[in-house]
Amino acid sequence: MRLIAFILAFLLAVPAAAQGIQQTKGNFEDKFRQLDEVLPDPNVYRNASGAPGHQYWQQQADYVIRAELDEEKRRLEAEGTVRYVNNSPDTLPWIWMQLDQNIFRTDSMAEMTTTFGGPGRRGPRIDAARGGEPARLSLEELRRQQAMADNEYGYDIERVTLADGTPLAHTIVGTLMRIDLPTPLAPGEEVSFDIEWAFNIVEENTIFARSGYEHFPDDPRKGGNDIFLFAQWFPRLVAYSDYEGWHNKEFLGRGEFTLEFGDYDVTMTVPDDHIVSATGVLANPGEVLTAAQRQRLESARNADAPVFIVTPQEAQANERTGPTGTKTWRFTAENVRDFAWGSSRKFIWDAQGHRQPGAENELVMAMSFWPKEGGELWRKYSTAAVVHTMKVYSRFSFDYPYPVAQSVNGPVGGMEYPMITFNGPRTTLNEDGTRTYSLSEKVYLIGVVIHEIGHIYFPMTVNSDERQWTWMDEGLNSFLDSVAGYEWDPDLPWGRSLPRDLVPYMTSTNQVPIMTQSDSVLNLGPNAYGKPSAAYHILRDTVIGRERFDFALREYARRWKFKRPTPADFFRTMEEASGTDLDWFWRGWFYTTDHVDISLDAIHRLRLDTANPDIDLSRRRAEALGEPEKVGVRLNEEQGVPVWVLENPDVTDFYDENDQFTVTPKDRESYESFLGGLEPWERRTFERAVKEDANYYVLSFSNKGGLVMPIILGLTFEDGSTQRMTIPAEIWRRNPREVSKLLVFPKGKRLASVVVDPDWETADADIENNYYPRRIIESRVEAFKSPEPSSRTGRDLMAEVQGSD
Ligand SMILES: [Zn+2]
Repeated sequence: MRLIAFILAFLLAVPAAAQGIQQTKGNFEDKFRQLDEVLPDPNVYRNASGAPGHQYWQQQADYVIRAELDEEKRRLEAEGTVRYVNNSPDTLPWIWMQLDQNIFRTDSMAEMTTTFGGPGRRGPRIDAARGGEPARLSLEELRRQQAMADNEYGYDIERVTLADGTPLAHTIVGTLMRIDLPTPLAPGEEVSFDIEWAFNIVEENTIFARSGYEHFPDDPRKGGNDIFLFAQWFPRLVAYSDYEGWHNKEFLGRGEFTLEFGDYDVTMTVPDDHIVSATGVLANPGEVLTAAQRQRLESARNADAPVFIVTPQEAQANERTGPTGTKTWRFTAENVRDFAWGSSRKFIWDAQGHRQPGAENELVMAMSFWPKEGGELWRKYSTAAVVHTMKVYSRFSFDYPYPVAQSVNGPVGGMEYPMITFNGPRTTLNEDGTRTYSLSEKVYLIGVVIHEIGHIYFPMTVNSDERQWTWMDEGLNSFLDSVAGYEWDPDLPWGRSLPRDLVPYMTSTNQVPIMTQSDSVLNLGPNAYGKPSAAYHILRDTVIGRERFDFALREYARRWKFKRPTPADFFRTMEEASGTDLDWFWRGWFYTTDHVDISLDAIHRLRLDTANPDIDLSRRRAEALGEPEKVGVRLNEEQGVPVWVLENPDVTDFYDENDQFTVTPKDRESYESFLGGLEPWERRTFERAVKEDANYYVLSFSNKGGLVMPIILGLTFEDGSTQRMTIPAEIWRRNPREVSKLLVFPKGKRLASVVVDPDWETADADIENNYYPRRIIESRVEAFKSPEPSSRTGRDLMAEVQGSD
């Protein structure tokens, strides 16, 4: 079939390398290989579509706790009853508890394994020796060492007994404790036991903790005041799951928490001038709030803007005096995976009701607690951001699942618990006594409140395993907080979680894949927050499309609400609910450290040969005339070098009259026989193609970054018109390194230029190789004055010597 040969003839004009690859010899990798080879097998607990299986189960742990804060000694004493329900099909001879406070012991694994020069729990604390310079220890680190030497931290476990007082044998292993049961706990059975414990509260700023106290020595009250934030403050059940059994993973400080749901009834006895904010609903307002405060709370339920429960003036007055005794606050919370609280006499408190018609909790009280140091920044934005978060996140998941949502200011920069979050930003005190805040502090406050309240959805309700996978909650939450941020004000300089922000990280060399256990991740921020967030933006806006992505994400949230999803459950749900095979995407983004860099290497414009020698040969003659003259011939002419045929003009033959493009009868004969050999449909097709004389463009791409991605094209034509085109990532399925694509445009439609990913939506690392033709790269250069030599020079020494004389 010669017609086929014609088509192939112009494809062969493309560089041979772009046509194929030695897949049987090189290190070919199938980037579209099914991910199920890597994921755990589906089973009765987690099915193949990513939903909870028909025998899904999880344990339950209910707590009744009585706690007492000794403000003077900065010590918490508590006792509690734990009711543990074994919903698993397994018989359990023991129960493991998490003793997170033990991370602050000087012999804890976290302390013993902090490396010199390596990152601490708050980034690099110590600079290792560099090139002969002395090593450096920050004053913050020295202060921390001193505090650890001066204080006994960690849990004092004073009693572990059955409800009837029978002591239970228990063994402490670092931040874990095994409690041996007198009789193994059979499936469906429950056991209740009591624990009594106490600990000295760490100073958060000194120890770099997720909780603790902050001291305000400059407050008018003699001795100053404190804000107390309590988290990881009671022995918590270790999770027991269908995929890991007991989750015995030491708390090293970074990998957060793997927890069970349960109901809580907590009373805390604190100085009677304190205001307490806690997970749950206040059960005894009549005992701890004034009539005025209760009336204000009532009016806040239907308010359009936050209403003060404790005004700034009242809090300032409170700061000056001291307690006259104690008060006991009682909070109850249903179906929560944790419990946290804050307590201080410094708290200003506001509240606003948020309505969710038709939801299980139709009214949610959005509330904020902050000291005067939070100032107008908190009054204007904290509770407003809490409400905004619920509006946006609920659209992507489910109605806010609890009756309360709180933002509490204290020493913790940003941390989340059920119904309560700790958020750090504050105002700055000016010399004239007023308070102001910078733009970055404003963006920080709104951003951190959105982020931490967002965590009440993920992972407080969609209970992913944070100790193992930071990215599961932080990635989704960073994605959603950026969505909420842009819906708050698109012009504010939000954090860096869009695809284009991730290029420097994704091209860096010091990386591990997203699918890495939390404590082992390098560069946690971009790895577990930014990169998965960028990946979800790309899935939503580029690969799947908003409607189907949002549908799939809602389905994931709905399926795993109050349950414990794994990465496989997420991957499978997003694929099956969106109807998109994303194995290549999860593989590339979550299991490798490749980056995105697609280069548009060449564009060939091809015109169909007519096969008619009278047309094609004159075309080729014209093309030959367009070539530059041979330099040697031109120089010969310029130098007047004689040419034989010019000097012998009377000697000529046929070839002097006719060039190589002259049509011969034989050419015409073979054209006729070609046409004659075509089937009628072949001839119609061929003649139409010749008549249309379309522009055939072959675009040659190479994949320089490794990640296979859709190729988004911005096409500009010579007539000034433009067109956008998205080629799905599957174009790379047989050759992940080089592909060519044929694009056909009508005769009058000629391409002027093409750019790959014109809107920077795929995190493509090298933008310049996206342009065809390439463009001149605009950049800037700064003139500078050469610095003076910096080391101690002879002149300096002479001056010092003279000075000392
Ligand atoms: Zn977070």
